[in-house]
Amino acid sequence: MTGTFQCEGGCGREIKEFPRRKTRFCRSCIGTVNGQDRAKVEKARASMKRRMQDPAFKAEHIRRTSEGLRARLASDPEEAERRRKAGRALGKSGLGHAAQGAGSEPRIRVGRMQTERYLGWCPKHLRDQYRDLVNKKGVRAVEAREIIERQIEAENARLSPFEKQLLRVRNGQATVVEKFKPAADLGPYTLGGVASGMI
Ligand SMILES: [Zn+2]
Repeated sequence: MTGTFQCEGGCGREIKEFPRRKTRFCRSCIGTVNGQDRAKVEKARASMKRRMQDPAFKAEHIRRTSEGLRARLASDPEEAERRRKAGRALGKSGLGHAAQGAGSEPRIRVGRMQTERYLGWCPKHLRDQYRDLVNKKGVRAVEAREIIERQIEAENARLSPFEKQLLRVRNGQATVVEKFKPAADLGPYTLGGVASGMI
């Protein structure tokens, strides 16, 4: 019941007619058309920025797009080679990350991302201890992680639900609930004393 017609973007694709079709372009060409419309680009940019504020959306978006890119590179050697060349040219040009000096905002930001990638599993208050084990005491990373994980378990067993929540907040794993307003700055490692007064 549905006929086909040729995309008006000049790509030569034959596309299907259906009742609620809004344009005479195929998916690929409508992207090009919309991309040339400043107002539409601005609107899409603003809405994507807003959606990226949600950490769950952002994580899912990154997962989905990196998966897509990996699949594309695995199945399309030409595209992989094109990207390799572009990467090399960028590297040689001295632009991109190499142009950012030590201590610059982007370098600091990337450093934090790397830390999260490798140490995301480790609560913030135990990270120095983990680094000490690996860097100063020469413990292998796998063993150091086991040691820290045992410590996390021991801590969890000791803590009340409230203290666990407090610890998660401090580790940046949870957001502070609006009504929770401690009177004084609690400082690190004072959970036991604080909790009994707060409950
Ligand atoms: Zn087209």
